[in-house]
Amino acid sequence: MRVPLRRDASSSSQEDTTTTLSPDPPTASPDRAPSRVLLETQRADCVRQRELALAETATSVPDPVAQRRAAGLLRTIEEIDAALARIAAGTYGACVYCGGAIPAERLEFRPFAAGCVSCQQER
Ligand SMILES: [Zn+2]
Repeated sequence: MRVPLRRDASSSSQEDTTTTLSPDPPTASPDRAPSRVLLETQRADCVRQRELALAETATSVPDPVAQRRAAGLLRTIEEIDAALARIAAGTYGACVYCGGAIPAERLEFRPFAAGCVSCQQER
Protein backbone atom coordinates (compact mmCIF):
# COMPACT_ATOMS: atom_id res chain seq x y z
CA MET A 1 0.00 0.00 0.00
CA ARG A 2 1.36 3.35 -1.05
CA VAL A 3 1.08 6.44 1.05
CA PRO A 4 0.83 9.69 -0.94
CA LEU A 5 3.61 12.06 -0.02
CA ARG A 6 1.68 15.19 -0.91
CA ARG A 7 -0.37 16.94 1.69
CA ASP A 8 -4.11 17.14 1.38
CA ALA A 9 -4.78 19.51 -1.52
CA SER A 10 -7.84 21.04 0.10
CA SER A 11 -5.81 22.39 3.03
CA SER A 12 -2.90 23.85 1.07
CA SER A 13 -4.15 24.63 -2.44
CA GLN A 14 -3.22 28.31 -2.16
CA GLU A 15 0.32 27.52 -1.08
CA ASP A 16 0.73 25.02 -3.90
CA THR A 17 -0.13 27.47 -6.67
CA THR A 18 2.41 30.00 -5.42
CA THR A 19 5.25 27.50 -4.99
CA THR A 20 4.76 25.48 -8.18
CA LEU A 21 4.33 28.49 -10.46
CA SER A 22 7.60 30.22 -9.75
CA PRO A 23 7.95 33.26 -12.04
CA ASP A 24 11.74 33.03 -12.28
CA PRO A 25 13.21 29.95 -13.94
CA PRO A 26 16.13 28.65 -11.89
CA THR A 27 19.38 30.11 -13.18
CA ALA A 28 22.76 28.45 -12.79
CA SER A 29 23.36 28.08 -9.09
CA PRO A 30 25.99 30.52 -7.79
CA ASP A 31 28.49 27.84 -6.80
CA ARG A 32 28.65 26.71 -10.46
CA ALA A 33 30.09 30.05 -11.53
CA PRO A 34 33.73 28.99 -10.96
CA SER A 35 33.09 25.81 -12.97
CA ARG A 36 31.64 27.83 -15.82
CA VAL A 37 34.60 30.21 -15.88
CA LEU A 38 36.96 27.22 -15.81
CA LEU A 39 35.10 25.51 -18.65
CA GLU A 40 35.01 28.66 -20.75
CA THR A 41 38.75 29.14 -20.22
CA GLN A 42 39.44 25.53 -21.16
CA ARG A 43 37.20 25.86 -24.18
CA ALA A 44 39.07 28.93 -25.44
CA ASP A 45 42.33 27.07 -24.87
CA CYS A 46 41.10 24.04 -26.84
CA VAL A 47 39.91 26.24 -29.70
CA ARG A 48 43.34 27.89 -29.88
CA GLN A 49 45.20 24.58 -29.74
CA ARG A 50 42.92 23.16 -32.38
CA GLU A 51 43.63 26.11 -34.68
CA LEU A 52 47.34 25.47 -34.22
CA ALA A 53 46.88 21.77 -34.97
CA LEU A 54 44.76 22.56 -38.02
CA ALA A 55 47.44 24.96 -39.25
CA GLU A 56 49.92 22.07 -39.00
CA THR A 57 47.65 19.85 -41.07
CA ALA A 58 47.27 22.55 -43.75
CA THR A 59 50.60 21.65 -45.31
CA SER A 60 51.44 19.76 -48.47
CA VAL A 61 52.07 16.69 -46.32
CA PRO A 62 49.36 16.64 -43.62
CA ASP A 63 50.67 15.50 -40.28
CA PRO A 64 48.52 12.59 -39.03
CA VAL A 65 49.44 13.34 -35.43
CA ALA A 66 48.20 16.92 -35.78
CA GLN A 67 45.06 15.67 -37.51
CA ARG A 68 44.33 13.33 -34.62
CA ARG A 69 45.05 16.07 -32.12
CA ALA A 70 42.66 18.45 -33.91
CA ALA A 71 39.94 15.77 -33.90
CA GLY A 72 40.48 15.06 -30.21
CA LEU A 73 40.34 18.75 -29.35
CA LEU A 74 37.09 19.12 -31.28
CA ARG A 75 35.64 16.29 -29.20
CA THR A 76 36.78 18.01 -26.00
CA ILE A 77 35.21 21.30 -27.16
CA GLU A 78 31.94 19.45 -27.72
CA GLU A 79 32.16 17.90 -24.24
CA ILE A 80 32.79 21.35 -22.75
CA ASP A 81 29.79 22.76 -24.62
CA ALA A 82 27.66 19.92 -23.23
CA ALA A 83 28.95 20.66 -19.71
CA LEU A 84 28.12 24.36 -20.12
CA ALA A 85 24.63 23.37 -21.26
CA ARG A 86 24.27 21.21 -18.14
CA ILE A 87 25.27 24.16 -15.97
CA ALA A 88 22.58 26.26 -17.68
CA ALA A 89 20.05 23.45 -17.17
CA GLY A 90 21.07 22.98 -13.54
CA THR A 91 22.09 19.34 -14.00
CA TYR A 92 25.86 19.90 -13.92
CA GLY A 93 27.66 17.56 -11.52
CA ALA A 94 25.22 14.70 -12.01
CA CYS A 95 26.24 11.68 -14.08
CA VAL A 96 24.37 11.74 -17.40
CA TYR A 97 24.18 7.95 -17.39
CA CYS A 98 23.12 6.96 -13.86
CA GLY A 99 22.14 10.36 -12.42
CA GLY A 100 24.49 9.95 -9.46
CA ALA A 101 26.68 12.80 -8.24
CA ILE A 102 30.09 13.05 -9.88
CA PRO A 103 32.75 13.41 -7.13
CA ALA A 104 34.18 16.92 -6.80
CA GLU A 105 37.74 15.60 -7.24
CA ARG A 106 36.77 14.19 -10.62
CA LEU A 107 35.20 17.47 -11.72
CA GLU A 108 38.33 19.31 -10.62
CA PHE A 109 40.47 17.03 -12.75
CA ARG A 110 38.02 16.86 -15.64
CA PRO A 111 35.41 19.67 -15.31
CA PHE A 112 33.57 18.57 -18.46
CA ALA A 113 33.17 14.96 -17.33
CA ALA A 114 29.69 13.81 -18.34
CA GLY A 115 29.58 10.74 -16.18
CA CYS A 116 30.94 9.20 -13.01
CA VAL A 117 34.04 7.01 -13.23
CA SER A 118 32.21 3.68 -13.18
CA CYS A 119 29.77 4.69 -15.94
CA GLN A 120 32.44 6.12 -18.24
CA GLN A 121 34.70 3.11 -17.80
CA GLU A 122 32.01 1.01 -19.43
CA ARG A 123 32.09 3.22 -22.51
ZN1 LIG B 1 27.18 7.17 -13.40
